[in-house]
Amino acid sequence: MSKDQSESEKPVYSATNAEKIALSNEEWKKRLSPEVYHIAREKGTERPWSSKYEHSNEIGTYYCAVCGNALFESDTKFESGCGWPSFYKPVSKNSVVYAHDKTHGMNRTEVMCGKCGSHLGHVFDDGPPPTGLRYCINGVVLDFEKAKEAEEKYEAEQEKKEKP
Ligand SMILES: [Zn+2]
Repeated sequence: MSKDQSESEKPVYSATNAEKIALSNEEWKKRLSPEVYHIAREKGTERPWSSKYEHSNEIGTYYCAVCGNALFESDTKFESGCGWPSFYKPVSKNSVVYAHDKTHGMNRTEVMCGKCGSHLGHVFDDGPPPTGLRYCINGVVLDFEKAKEAEEKYEAEQEKKEKP
C-alpha cells in the first residue's frame, strides 16, 4: 500500500494542516487500524521491544500516525533500553500535550499528540541532557519519514507546480 492510498483513506491525516482535530471514538474507529486505535484512543501500550523504530538510527522526522503532526526529530532519539522508542525532546512546545496519569497504581505523565489528542506514551525525568527527559513513545502511533525522502517529495511537488 502506498502512502498516498493510506492518506486518502484517512482524511484527517495531514502534515500541513495544523488545525486541532476532535472526533468521537466512533469516528476514530472507522478511520484507524485496530492496533492504532487501541493505543491512540484506548491508551493502550504496545509490547516492549516490538517497535521497528526502537533501534532505528535513520535521520528524519517522526509524525503522529493518526493525524500527521510532526512529533520528534531523529536527532533527539536515544537508546534508553526501556523497550520503546525514546526521545528527549518534542519537535516544538505545542507538538505534544500532557496529562496526569494515575492508572495502574503509578503516578506518571501521559504524553498526547498536540493536534489530535491521541495517546502516544509517557514522559519520565530520567532522560539524557539537555532536557533530562525521556519520552517513551509507542512505535505503533509513530510514522517515520526519512529526511531524504521528505526532501525528494518536496522537490517533486515544487517541480509539478512549475510545470502544470
Ligand atoms: Zn495526532
